[in-house]
Amino acid sequence: IRNLGKTYRSGGKELAVLTDINFSIEEGAAVSIVGPSGSGKTTLLGLCAGLDRASSGSVELNNIRLDDLSEDQRAQVRNRYVGFIFQNFQLLPTLTALENVMVPLELRGEKNIKNQALDLLDKVGLAHRHHHYPAQLSGGEQQRVSLARAFSNRPKILFADEPTGNLDAETSDKVEKLLFDLNQDAGTTLVLVTHNLDLAAKTQRIIRIKGGHIASDELVNSDQLAGNSYQ
Ligand code: ATP
Repeated sequence: IRNLGKTYRSGGKELAVLTDINFSIEEGAAVSIVGPSGSGKTTLLGLCAGLDRASSGSVELNNIRLDDLSEDQRAQVRNRYVGFIFQNFQLLPTLTALENVMVPLELRGEKNIKNQALDLLDKVGLAHRHHHYPAQLSGGEQQRVSLARAFSNRPKILFADEPTGNLDAETSDKVEKLLFDLNQDAGTTLVLVTHNLDLAAKTQRIIRIKGGHIASDELVNSDQLAGNSYQ
């Protein structure tokens, strides 16, 4: 991320949400982005993942500069490398839990996608709800379907916006384990936005955003850093 800025325009006014953001995240790292509500965390995550376009500066993902790409090209990069867990889940309401998880597998042209999707739902403890539509699931259950969908992409980098925000303590622990297993075992780079400082403290690095700027950027967990593979 180089000299990144984002300005929203609404009601004829301009709102500078992010200014002059610079950082890089190494492959295989687990990083948290924290900061007060409205400080620009979700906006930053969306720009990093190529979901939205920056107003200034540049974003490079896996050595691909996203700023120069068309909407379609950015979607291809996302399908290939990125998993995203949204704060509000963004499941497709007309598809069942199973079908939601099958979508990325289908887009990748995978085989045996029903069984793969069922396995993923099983991992998040929801195989028994696979035929339910999002409206028939609780917030925490929708969150877990969204996790299973993000995992199904076998992403090189997983962006998660408040991944444990709607979960009870037990489910939250399970989801944390899934995220860190993915990071440690599969080498998936993990970038979390969270208000949960206990969760943030389990990552290696905490980037703190305040008023659209980076207030601090600290390594917090050198043990985990040493134990992690950067290959
Ligand atoms: P929270 O912790 O509450 O989720 P956040 O740090 O993730 O907050 P963002 O969602 O990135 O914050 O929003 C940053 C600012 O940008 C907020 O003031 C918000 O109102 C504004 N904003 C976000 N999206 C838009 C948009 N599409 N149009 C106009 N303003 C927006």
